[in-house]
Amino acid sequence: MVDKIALGVDIGATWVRVALADSNADILAKNKEPINTEDELGISRQIEKLGTQLCEEMDREISEISGIGIASAGPMNRDEGHLVSPSNIPLELVPLAKPLESKFDAEVELINDGVSAVLAESKYGAGENYDNLVYITISTGIGGGAIVDGNLLIGKNGNAAEVGHFTIDEEEKLKCGCGRSGHWEAYCSGSNIPGFVQWKLERCDPAEVEGPLAKAKEKRFTSFQAKDLFDYARNGDPLALNLVEEIGRLNAIGFAAVTDAYDPELITIGGGVALNNPEFILEPIKENISNHTQNEVPKIMITPLKGENVLYGAIAMGLSHSLE
Ligand SMILES: [Zn+2]
Repeated sequence: MVDKIALGVDIGATWVRVALADSNADILAKNKEPINTEDELGISRQIEKLGTQLCEEMDREISEISGIGIASAGPMNRDEGHLVSPSNIPLELVPLAKPLESKFDAEVELINDGVSAVLAESKYGAGENYDNLVYITISTGIGGGAIVDGNLLIGKNGNAAEVGHFTIDEEEKLKCGCGRSGHWEAYCSGSNIPGFVQWKLERCDPAEVEGPLAKAKEKRFTSFQAKDLFDYARNGDPLALNLVEEIGRLNAIGFAAVTDAYDPELITIGGGVALNNPEFILEPIKENISNHTQNEVPKIMITPLKGENVLYGAIAMGLSHSLE
């Protein structure tokens, strides 16, 4: 008997990644393309093309694909299988399930990327023995997924655990990609750290700070990225170290809110900002979280699945066709 195969798709801020996997969730082949946001069917055309190429590469028929799991940043309408004004994509509507179901004759499941990541953690990662588990990504944006009492939280449209939009600053100093202000993601995500640094530098007294980062203020930060802040900090720049500490304190407030909301035994952390700078992300959260939560502090660690949580969760969805 021919083994069941499925497609897992990870729609990120920059890439569309597609993997062909067998029934053990082992990846047979995978490929990626820069995300196509020219028109609302651009992404579904990419998934169709990449999925077809992977089948050809592995000498499998596309009719053998039993299911397609797609994970993406929200917001989304899961029942309709489309994204609705997603924060990272400049389109109002991105239909995915309908165009792909007609091409592949397979069931398509769309889930939030944070939900996908926590599903992968519980099936293949550090969360196998836990009924109460949260995954948080600190990447271009901040997102999450939660399993509570063994149940994967989905929400009415699939947008549960959008923790990056928790309000952590009541003064609402910085604006979030969602259009509102004061959200966690607006301060601590990869795309927003440069804005936070600039905001702080514009308000600090130059006489009180010194070092290369303070001098960079004059350069107006046109090409400054989150990575640069961590590099300055790694080189011992005092201002950068202060800012990294403050970002860590804000992350701890976010993690405390997550702990109060879901009462997890374990929180795992992924996403490029965390995976590339674990020493600056993990420790300040562990140090400060108990100042902000009344709950027992959970075990907190970097995910062992590295950058693959979302893709593996999508594969699990493609194999099972449902969240049951
Ligand atoms: Zn927001």
